[in-house]
Amino acid sequence: MTNLPGIVITGASGRMGQMLIKTVQDSDKARLVGVVERPGHDWIGRDVGTCMGGAAVGVAVSDDPLELFAHAQAVIDFTSPAATVGFAALAAQARAVHVIGTTGLSDEDLLKINAAARHAPIIRAGNMSLGVNLLVQLTKTVAAALDEDFDIEVIEAHHNKKVDAPSGTALMLGEAAAEGRGVSLDNVADRGRDGITGAREQGHIGFSAIRGGDIVGEHDVLFAAAGERIVLRHVATDRAIFARGALKAALWGQAQGPGEYDMMDVLGL
Ligand code: NAD
Repeated sequence: MTNLPGIVITGASGRMGQMLIKTVQDSDKARLVGVVERPGHDWIGRDVGTCMGGAAVGVAVSDDPLELFAHAQAVIDFTSPAATVGFAALAAQARAVHVIGTTGLSDEDLLKINAAARHAPIIRAGNMSLGVNLLVQLTKTVAAALDEDFDIEVIEAHHNKKVDAPSGTALMLGEAAAEGRGVSLDNVADRGRDGITGAREQGHIGFSAIRGGDIVGEHDVLFAAAGERIVLRHVATDRAIFARGALKAALWGQAQGPGEYDMMDVLGL
């Protein structure tokens, strides 16, 4: 079993971190070699099994990523933009595949991630599920087939703890719509979630974000013209879909050279 790719999970106590620990432990294609939490977190130095209320598994929670990355083939990272930029440099140093699920990354963060990808493969996606990546493809196809009589609105809903808005997935869908229409998203999109007060230009691409309760993630792409509407919809009810996608990416990355990849590459879409 020890020749299975070793995985380190960062942000271990987070919503996605916990799901990832379970997914990797349940897999017969990878082994969990370490988990990382932020310095000062009350999980540090304890055992994953103890923290998660299950049987001890002999994997300690550490705040020393490089030490762990050096003994791993892949790092799966769903944390925060600041943490992820640091992990990208360390994973590159350790020549480990870095799977990034973190959203809300700035242009400056993306430049740093791009620099790290010169040394090791980085797979980054605002959404790691098969269904959403298919939805992105469908959005591009529908937007290409329709003219500017159709306004495009991406409407997303998430739990009330989500930090960024619109979601990384909503932005992926907006980019796909813009690409299908042959325009730049920067020129047409309203990225804010609060300033929707008046009329909008015909043919716009816009975003709306809803936050409430424990919603895992829902995305509608609405194509609306005078007299008709098309709605494409994805509903996530279980975070396991993101964790399974991330593990798939980590395994796929083992056969890749340095560079930046996304889930379309992993899924062959
Ligand atoms: P969360 O707040 O529950 O978990 C984040 C964890 O990261 C926390 O435990 C936090 O302590 C930890 N962390 C922060 N800084 C750290 C550091 N320097 N070192 C180690 N750990 C650190 O958030 P979540 O709901 O699990 O989401 C995490 C990220 O993943 C968000 O950006 C979210 O939007 C994104 N996300 C992406 C997908 C996808 O498919 N790409 C799916 C779900 C969530």
